[in-house]
This record gives sequence, structure tokens and C-alpha cells, in this order.
Amino acid sequence: MTSPIASRFAPSPTGSLHLGNLRTALYAWLYARRLAGRFVLRIEDTDRERSDEAKIAELIDDLRWLGIDWDGGPGRDDGTGPYRQTERAAYHQAAFVRLEAEGHAYPCYCTEPELEAERQLALRQKRPPRYSGRCAGLDAAGRAALVAEGRPASLRFRMPKGVRLQWTDRVRGPQSFRADDLGDFVIRRADGTASFLSSNAIDDAQMGITLVLRGEDHVANTPRQRALITALGLTPPEYGHLPLLVGPNDAPLSKRDGAMSVRGLRERGYLPEALANLLLRLGHSGATDGYHAIDAMAAQFDVSALGHAPAHVDLQQLNHWQHEALSRAPEAVLLPWIAGRTPVGLEAATLAAIRKNVLLIADAQAWCERLYGQLPVPGTEHAALIASAGAAFWEALLSVTAPDYDRLVEAGKSAGLKGKALFQPLRLALTGTLEGPELRPLLQLMDAALLQKRLQAARTLAASAL
Ligand code: GLU
Ligand code: ZN
Repeated sequence: MTSPIASRFAPSPTGSLHLGNLRTALYAWLYARRLAGRFVLRIEDTDRERSDEAKIAELIDDLRWLGIDWDGGPGRDDGTGPYRQTERAAYHQAAFVRLEAEGHAYPCYCTEPELEAERQLALRQKRPPRYSGRCAGLDAAGRAALVAEGRPASLRFRMPKGVRLQWTDRVRGPQSFRADDLGDFVIRRADGTASFLSSNAIDDAQMGITLVLRGEDHVANTPRQRALITALGLTPPEYGHLPLLVGPNDAPLSKRDGAMSVRGLRERGYLPEALANLLLRLGHSGATDGYHAIDAMAAQFDVSALGHAPAHVDLQQLNHWQHEALSRAPEAVLLPWIAGRTPVGLEAATLAAIRKNVLLIADAQAWCERLYGQLPVPGTEHAALIASAGAAFWEALLSVTAPDYDRLVEAGKSAGLKGKALFQPLRLALTGTLEGPELRPLLQLMDAALLQKRLQAARTLAASAL
């Protein structure tokens, strides 16, 4: 590795990846790749009740699907592992011992109801709801007395007092917090496990991470985490806090927003290149216009071109990139979309005929149904159009027994129709829709018997409308 630069993605596998997380992962990865640095995937699985193997596997699969790879992470070792936070507990505990020995941390015996009462009081008095520091000054005797009461102890980090904590965020610019507003925070819970604030910070520092890109919901954690890392004698990484993504109705995208989960989008057929091209522009203005292949995106990524206004996820833009991605997708990527839905041997020809008219898997499957299955009963307008051609027109077409485009058109013309008046009813009768690929190649795919059946249905409709 030629560069000391390292970034990471540190997901908690408690739910499905959504577009917001995926953007964070993509940007962190692009940043590392752009600067020939390391990229680490750390699984923050400390919430054991909500993390499970299936979710971790799904997360890894989603990242790989997008084309994200890592130097250190599950299945790949760059010497800074382990890469699951639960397997790093010994590092966290060693840090706690050291912090306590050096006076940077102290046991806190407050119970949850006591802390809650403190928070409520602060809120009523319109003060920041922070820990009062009640246990910060206990001497040995005071501690012994609380232990004797049977109170379990958490461990709190002693924040510096009376100072401002400042740093320059790579996205949001200069940041400044009053340390006194933040209060001493828990680094080891009463059950002995590390808190999010401490494990996340200790891991970043020990894994040599130089830039943390993450959601802006973590901004207020940063002064605490920087102070903690500094107290350990380590160098805090730089931080860049990305604005949250907002959906169509300005509501933040959340894990609950199933439609915007990476899984949900994948299952509908969105291609990784479509998502990546969309995400590359969501709050990042460093990329040139036009489609970029994923492995060419690192050259397009510039951390100083990250904006801090909320970024809107626009479905139309996503669909634009989906079109771009689809037009470049190899056949092998799209064939599974129609697997089992065409006559054997017609898979590739079907795909070739319909692919320009398809955005998602459901569209492709609808075309297979139109070509080989059952057409829906036409609605009023469509029925009227079919009837408008007249029974004689359909009679003439029925004399053509092979699915031959030229002969069908010839027959239609001989019945006195041309242009739209001929093509619209014909298309409707054969495909059930006015939109779609050219009829000629579609007819080559269709079976003569099915064609006759559809022409007969049209004739019946036209005759009954008389
Ligand atoms: N596990 C945290 C999360 O998913 C990590 C935040 C961070 O990137 O530091 O929100
Ligand atoms: Zn306390």
C-alpha cells in the first residue's frame, strides 16, 4: 500500500441497507480508491439481539453487488482485524483499563431511573440533557459505599472541562462544541460491554482510519469520540458528515422505507450501475456529466465536492440511470429476468426484441406474458379502437395464418385501412398495449395459433360492437 489514507464503512447489521447507507459506503470506498488508500469494512454487530448472520451476509452481498471491495473486512485481512466489532472486545477493554488508570475515565454508579430524572430536570430547565458528573469526584470511600449498596458501575469518559472542541469537518466545515454541553459519557456499560461511542472510536483509531465518512446524525458524537481517541494517545481521523437523503415527500429515507432498501431495488431489477450513478450525484458535485462505469467512478470522486444540503432521491433520475445502465448491460445480466417465461430457445431473441422497452423485471415479464401468455381483457378505450377497425378488417387479417408482419399489413391495407387506423388496432389486438417494441420482430417470436386466437378475439369484439 503506497498511501497512509484509509477509510471505512462501519454498518450495524440491524436492518437492510438503504440508499443512504449505500451512498456512505460508496463514497468511503471511492475516496480510498481515488487516493490509493485502504478501505475497511467493519461490521458493528454489538447489538447482538438485532444483528444476525443472515443480515450480515445480506449486507456483504449487497456491497459486493454494487462492486465495492475491501482490503480489510470479512474474508479479507489487511492486518487491522478482526473486522467484527464483537471480536474486538479485548481491545476495547484494554483501552478502558488504560483510560481509567490515567484518570480519563471513572466508574458511575447512577441507576437508570436516577439518570432519567436528571435528564427530565435538565429539559425542564432548558439545559442540554447531559450527565451531571455526579460520580466524577467520588473518592475511594464514596465508591466503596455505592458498591456496598449493590449498585453496578458503568465507566464514563471524563470530558475536558471549560474548553471548546473544534475540528474541521470535511463536508460541513469548521465545527465547534462546548465540552461542558456534552457531559461525561458512558464508554463501558454496566454489563461490561463497550458503548457505541467508545467501540466505534477505538476501532477507527486502532485500524488506522484517516477519514470517517458517515451520516450527519453522528455529528454530535464526533467531539466526544475525538476527545476519547486523543486521551488514548492516538490521532483522531478526519470526519466528514454526509447530509441525510430525503425521499420524494421530503421525508428522510429510513430503514423502514422498504421501497428504497437496496434489496427492494435489486429485486425489482435496478442495476448496480444505475444506483451507483444516482448516488454519485446525491450531494456530490465532483463527477462529470454522463454515465460512468463503477470501476471508473473513483476518478470522478472528490471529497471536497461534497455538499451539506439534504440530497433528494428522485425516482426519475434513478430511472434515467437505469435506462443508461440497461442499454449497456450484457445479455447474461438480463436473461434471468425472463427465465422460464419464454418458449425454450427463444430467450435471447425475446430479450433482444423487448429490452429497449423495459425498465424493470416486471416490465420484461409483462412482455413475455404479452408474447406468449394471456392478454388482459381490453379496457373500454382499447376495445373501441379494436372495434373501430371493423369486422371486415379482422376477417382479412385472419386469412393470414402465419405470424408474418408484411402479409398482415398487406391484408389490413386491402381491407381499406392504413397508417394509425391500421397499426393501432393491430398492435392492440396482438399485444394488448399501444406502446412497445416494433411489431415485426415481436411477430417473429409469436406462435401462429396464438396469433389466430388473438385475431379471432378482435374479430368477435368488432362484430359485437356493430
Ligand atoms: N454503526 C454505525 C452506524 O451504522 C456507524 C456510524 C459510523 O460510521 O461511525 O450508524
Ligand atoms: Zn454517576
